[in-house]
Amino acid sequence: MFSPSSVLSDKTLLDILYQSPVATAIYVGEHLQIVFANNAMRKLWIIGDDLANQTYRDARQGSTPNLTTQLQQVWQTGVTYRQAAAPYTVTADGYIYTQYYNIELSACKDTDGRVTAVMHTAVPLNQTGISQHKNTGSTVVGNTESYTPAKGAVNDLFDAPVLETLIDNASIGVVIIAGEDNKILYANYSYSKMIGRNLNILCGSKLFDVLPEARAYFAPIIDEVRNHGRPVYLYDTPYSVYTNGEVSRGYVNVIYQPFTHPLTKVKGVLAICHDVTSQTLNKQQLETVNAKLQSTNHDLQLNQTGLRLAADTAKLGIWTFDPETNNFGLDPRCRSIFGLDADEAISKTDIETVIDEKYVPVVTQLVQNAYAGKPGMVEYYAINLKTGKRSWVRGSAQYIPPTSESSGHLIGTMVDLSAEKDEEKRKTDFIGFVSHELRSPLTSLSGYIQVLQLRASKTGDEKIIDIINKSRRQVDRMAALISGFLDVVKIGESRIQLDLSCFDLVNLLSESEAECNTVVQTHHMVYKPLTGAFVEADYDKIEQVLTNLINNAVKYSPQGTTIIVTAERRDDEVWVSVADEGLGISEADIPHLFERFYRAQSEHTKTIKGFGIGLYICKEIIESHRGRIWVESEVNHGSVFYFSLPLITKNL
Ligand code: ADP
Repeated sequence: MFSPSSVLSDKTLLDILYQSPVATAIYVGEHLQIVFANNAMRKLWIIGDDLANQTYRDARQGSTPNLTTQLQQVWQTGVTYRQAAAPYTVTADGYIYTQYYNIELSACKDTDGRVTAVMHTAVPLNQTGISQHKNTGSTVVGNTESYTPAKGAVNDLFDAPVLETLIDNASIGVVIIAGEDNKILYANYSYSKMIGRNLNILCGSKLFDVLPEARAYFAPIIDEVRNHGRPVYLYDTPYSVYTNGEVSRGYVNVIYQPFTHPLTKVKGVLAICHDVTSQTLNKQQLETVNAKLQSTNHDLQLNQTGLRLAADTAKLGIWTFDPETNNFGLDPRCRSIFGLDADEAISKTDIETVIDEKYVPVVTQLVQNAYAGKPGMVEYYAINLKTGKRSWVRGSAQYIPPTSESSGHLIGTMVDLSAEKDEEKRKTDFIGFVSHELRSPLTSLSGYIQVLQLRASKTGDEKIIDIINKSRRQVDRMAALISGFLDVVKIGESRIQLDLSCFDLVNLLSESEAECNTVVQTHHMVYKPLTGAFVEADYDKIEQVLTNLINNAVKYSPQGTTIIVTAERRDDEVWVSVADEGLGISEADIPHLFERFYRAQSEHTKTIKGFGIGLYICKEIIESHRGRIWVESEVNHGSVFYFSLPLITKNL
């Protein structure tokens, strides 16, 4: 190996090392007696000028990492110890700050392999705040310091060849160049490895002859260090070297230290290089991840604000439920509905105290459906624990499956419907009032028309008879409308009463068929008969439903088309259907069709009169019989309305 002693005296080498900003110390023995410590290391210590009989333990400051055990291990085993980015608390210019160092503890061995000394180096990492950027890394220019070795820098115990071996074997790249042409006086193995050149060709060569690819960027810096006598520190500086036609790229921290050869007075530069490629790449990755995180955070904040805004506008309360802890999380709006204070917790078992008992099964079903992946919405009575007041609430629930960050949980919304329900009640009361007021004069009118009909039939005046018949039909229509409105009022007040009896649905269908055959002249009515379908139901109300569906089929399909009425048994139910070949209903309208006052809007339907209460009444009647009502439809191809009723055992 090319030895520094061949070109530099041990004294010169020591001098250079002494000035190096890489904190360096050398210890011997189990007790880690200090035999050498340069200026940079002494700044990290609390040691005085005299090294005699000083050990690492005496010198170390309490605020710096304690390496006693590691140093002793290196002394005992000879195995190098490294620690990246160790934090040191440093005082400079009256400020206290943290400086990170890459630490290396390496052993120097004699020819028998016995450890004779341990070298301790601490390479400072980037000092944020004092660096100015150059290239993509950063550069710091140090102060010009005239070299004055401190008294007692080297202990008498110190043997210079130990130092050579230590530097030769150090994992930090060291190169010493001198003169205008940057002739290499010394390079260690780590440096040769870093630049991808054989150590043998380095000695005596001009640096940029063997490493031309580095000239453009590094030569001006080295010139500046040499000519101005000021150290320069490069941090995270990108480099690329060409080895056997291949480019290897990386990042390096370099400390350039000027020196003047004590004998020849030739000016030179000591460069200590530390490959920080993996650290820099990690740092860059971390910065990218951080930037992404920041932007995700920003997006999240925006989403959250947006969500909050939407929830506020819609007066939505938001709740969560954690099945693991059985606890609810409630936002202020949910808390105010239940009359709970901000710090009052509520668990699954408390839920029955805040929901009207009649609605507990409805809410339980909502939750079970949510767990089964079917989010939904229900209306229920919530109880305010403070006032005891009940209010209508519309609630939804959805299950959020577990992710790597959170366990599975339920999330849902609540809206206080009190105002909406009050408004609804006012409207219903009004409809009820008007309908009642209209019913008496209409009954009288109907009576008068009957008398007129009787009289007219005696006169035989066809024209008069026809006019009176038309008036009669209009009065009947009005009466039907009014009874519809009164039904709506009754439903709203839960006053719909069923007069139950057991009957064969087939009879009801036959009656309907007989009536339709005389009344419906515009369409072709087809009834598909069925035998023995016994139900326990309110005959008149089921008839009302069927009539309503048939009337709609007539109303919403062109003249001359066919309307088919069927009834069929399906397990323990009977399904009745009314199919037409009419306008059909769009997909968007179907979910709302059975709502009160809902009417599908289209070019064709806008000329057809109605109030949107027929299907609502049908639904209420069928559901109060524990049956279902639904529709299958295609625009311009027709609709099939179905209702189902439970069959009774008599039928089996
Ligand atoms: P109305 O007929 O008085 O408007 P309904 O409650 O009976 O009220 O019906 C609600 C709406 O459903 C109707 O406005 C109509 O748009 C639609 N509808 C009902 N039956 C049919 C049908 N057979 N074909 C097409 N649309 C229908």
